[in-house]
Amino acid sequence: MITGAAEQIGAGIVRLLAPNAGMMTGPGTNTYLIGTAEIAVLDPGPASGKHIDAIQQCATGPIRWILVTHTHPDHSPGASKLAAATGAELLGQPPPPGRVQDKTFKPDRILHDGDVLETGEFLLRAVHTPGHASNHLCYRHEESRWLFTGDHIMSGSTVVIDPPDGNMTHYLESLERLKSLDLAALAPGHGPIIENPDELIDWLIDHRMKREAKVVASLKSHPELTVTELTPFVYDEVDKKLHHLAERSLLAHLLKLELDGSATQANRRWRLSSEVGELSA
Ligand SMILES: [Zn+2]
Repeated sequence: MITGAAEQIGAGIVRLLAPNAGMMTGPGTNTYLIGTAEIAVLDPGPASGKHIDAIQQCATGPIRWILVTHTHPDHSPGASKLAAATGAELLGQPPPPGRVQDKTFKPDRILHDGDVLETGEFLLRAVHTPGHASNHLCYRHEESRWLFTGDHIMSGSTVVIDPPDGNMTHYLESLERLKSLDLAALAPGHGPIIENPDELIDWLIDHRMKREAKVVASLKSHPELTVTELTPFVYDEVDKKLHHLAERSLLAHLLKLELDGSATQANRRWRLSSEVGELSA
């Protein structure tokens, strides 16, 4: 994957890598151009003039629609810029409250679960997948049975679930739901195409459940700790430099356990609820 180079990755599907490689974005954000006669741009990425120019240069027809998966700063800020340059319609869900949200994204058409963008050439169906972000949409390309997954699923790493907008209960439910969609491949917001969707989805669910089991075991042996104090026990195999991020996902796990009735907190100190403590004793 080369920044700025357009790659034809499927019939009527081109991928263009945005120039924003980094710790959180891997090689950078994937922008997809769908269609050949009239183009839908999916996730135009950051508001980079260079990238917006590159998108327009590799479009084989007029850009009519701009869709976003969610409104994190590496996915949607380019949308209003590209819309200003092309007159394209903006589709997606508006940003929820919160500090890490692109407030410049104002959709012309708000998409809900099951809504479609139908053109003479292709049909994209919105699949609401809250968890990584409450306003996260994946898009199923009906002709190829590919799913554009944004940050719901990325290649090569798991995604951070950052409460309060990130929600582990919703994330797992959204993963489970994808298994019923008969998918041939996943086109993620970061990294290469994933050819074994159901296998990867099962692995992701299993990975999160194993982590949850580790949270329960750590709470049992180290009760009454804060999230920060608990992180080194739950993420002992993860580089300490990444613990500030792991801490966010740990909080998401704890909030799920609290909702399940398995953990409780007082003064930001966490412990297992007595029933679970006895069961696992
Ligand atoms: Zn994101």
